Amino acid sequence: MKIMEDKCYWCSTRITRTHSNMSWICDYESSNCENHPVAYNVNPVLREDWAPHQTESEVHEIIKRYYYVIKSQKSGKYLREVGDNVVMISSKAKSTSRKSAEKILPHTGSIRRLIYDTIVSNNDRGYTDYELEAVLKGSHQTVSASRRSLVLDGFLIDSGKTRKNKNDNDCIVWVTANQFSNGMLFANV
Ligand SMILES: [Zn+2]
Repeated sequence: MKIMEDKCYWCSTRITRTHSNMSWICDYESSNCENHPVAYNVNPVLREDWAPHQTESEVHEIIKRYYYVIKSQKSGKYLREVGDNVVMISSKAKSTSRKSAEKILPHTGSIRRLIYDTIVSNNDRGYTDYELEAVLKGSHQTVSASRRSLVLDGFLIDSGKTRKNKNDNDCIVWVTANQFSNGMLFANV
């Protein structure tokens, strides 16, 4: 079994886990972080809530996601779901590319869902665009456009890792943002 190892952002303790769906455990075999901000928040403590150890990148991801949600709420912009139809085209796009974008729009939700579910199914390893194209048998343009829209919507993130494609270029490995299932900083965040 492969053990993932990192450091807790809050208590600086060495933390480990065997799968990204599991909580981090410190060397004292506790998943509860006493230095987590929740530990200083009277309300959750009274409800006997538990505060997870979190890595630096998890904390960054939670803040980014929170910012995205707040921004969407403030602007009244509709917060998209994974399966929503999305096509992003440049404001300078020619009418031909607008027309082809309109043509694929009704299918983009299912492509987004397919990409997302594929990555979820192997989130520890993640997927590059190139690997997604191979698995989903989709065109580069379709796959990378839908994958990009999922990144902009906050569903996928750069894992910080890369893998080579057949042309020996380094490609970003994408993983889902909600691997950080303990995504709380304070009670409702
Ligand atoms: Zn901790």
